[in-house]
Amino acid sequence: MNAETLKQRLIHLQEIFQEREDTLTELDRAIGDGDHGVNMVSGFNALPQALENADTVQDVLKTTGMTLMSKVGGASGPLYGFSFVKMAQVAEDEITEDNLPKLLEAFSQAVHQRGKVELDEKTMYDVIERAREAVENGETVDIAYLQTLADNTEDLVATKGRAAYFKEESRGHTDPGAQSSVYILNALIGDE
Ligand code: ADP
Ligand code: MG
Repeated sequence: MNAETLKQRLIHLQEIFQEREDTLTELDRAIGDGDHGVNMVSGFNALPQALENADTVQDVLKTTGMTLMSKVGGASGPLYGFSFVKMAQVAEDEITEDNLPKLLEAFSQAVHQRGKVELDEKTMYDVIERAREAVENGETVDIAYLQTLADNTEDLVATKGRAAYFKEESRGHTDPGAQSSVYILNALIGDE
């Protein structure tokens, strides 16, 4: 994937998040404050203009990171923003099958460190880290697979972020950040 394709795939997320805004809002209303849909839409609406002059993979990732950091807000904005900046630091001129694992490692490590989060705390990290692992193992990571990873957060009890206040009542709901990370990972990994 070259810089132009990456840029188009990230810009396309604007539409995806607009379409999924209500779903993400509902998920965040159940175990949070209901702003995750709006947060993601605000961030990705700002991307087309921000990326206008970005023409290397590193530039595209870094500018996306800075934009998400300043526009998304909430807990997820800094996490996604920092992750893209970290991916920019390890990125090569094109994203290939060979260097994708390294990129996803940077994504996962960034969330792990910045969020001080482990697996099964019912966050975006559950999806990002397991997708990273699957890619590393050469498994097919398509949108359906990513969705099962997000669905698997439903049975967990949240121990990080706002959802942690819901304790046992957080069980039975998919984590909103796990759901939004499905779309972001699909843009980075997917080949359709
Ligand atoms: P806020 O919780 O501040 O309203 P958002 O609603 O935009 O922010 O994002 C909530 C999502 O952020 C959660 O669903 C979860 O996936 C993710 N999240 C929150 N805290 C953490 C954390 N410490 N580590 C990883 N992810 C987190
Ligand atoms: Mg929220």
